[in-house]
Amino acid sequence: MKFGAYVYEPEKAAGFDFHLLRVKIETGTRIPPVQDMHSNIAVFADNAAARSHPDWISQSPLGPARMGNNNFNIYWSVVCATQPEHRAEQLDYMEDVDRHSMGVWLNSQYFADHGHCTCPRCKERWKKSGLNWLEWRRKEVTDYIAQVRERVKKELVMCIQPDPVTSCERYGVDFGDLAKYADAFNVVMFSKNYATPWYWEMLARGFKKLLKKPVYISLYVFGPGDNAKDVPSASELLTVSVRCARTGIDGILYLASGPSQIRDFQKAAVDKVELREHLESYGGRPVQEVLDLVKSWEKIVG
Ligand SMILES: [Zn+2]
Repeated sequence: MKFGAYVYEPEKAAGFDFHLLRVKIETGTRIPPVQDMHSNIAVFADNAAARSHPDWISQSPLGPARMGNNNFNIYWSVVCATQPEHRAEQLDYMEDVDRHSMGVWLNSQYFADHGHCTCPRCKERWKKSGLNWLEWRRKEVTDYIAQVRERVKKELVMCIQPDPVTSCERYGVDFGDLAKYADAFNVVMFSKNYATPWYWEMLARGFKKLLKKPVYISLYVFGPGDNAKDVPSASELLTVSVRCARTGIDGILYLASGPSQIRDFQKAAVDKVELREHLESYGGRPVQEVLDLVKSWEKIVG
């Protein structure tokens, strides 16, 4: 297994195999990529683009994909996934970011959610395609990812929502289609607590079965603006890491605002001596790899 630090600040945290930097986040804010870090780009979720071009926002029978529309699981404003200027600009941006870093991990590279998008352009493209609605959406997403693959020469990873069953109906994402272009998948499993690790383990097992490329999962440690009492405990993170590891996934990333929050987590994890011993009994080699990782952190935080 490989372990990554997934951060908002352009600085590498000690004690990980690789580093993923959020160079463009859903607010639309961009920071320069870093040569020896991987780059994470939110493509269509983009508050800044939606603010500058209100007519670009994805539309649906349940309203636009605007932050605050509670019909959907949307925390940002999302641009229509067929918007030609946004698509083109993002392709150029991805190519540039790829050149200046170790590759590109994409978020929100698909439709906003079920029922999207019913803007006039999408309605027309759908009608012209002769396909049914779900097939048309799937084709739009897959064709765009094929274009991305032509521009990204290094690693290309598809971050996906933790929905193994209705991904096509909601986002136009077909896992088999994306596997043709992706080097790996990253299932984003963010939560403010992991009190019931059983569910996350089940999801990891399901995705490992479905996805035809290496599978990473991302766990939530400490986001920008969080309070220590609002984030998952080190015990929950250790337990859920071990339980997901034993499903056969290929790696785990830990999301934090920066190296300092990662280090706090590492110290708290190292201090859970009894739990670490207890977790030894949870499985074979992958579990041991997680526990060895925590052991390797002793030197860092000691
Ligand atoms: Zn549209």
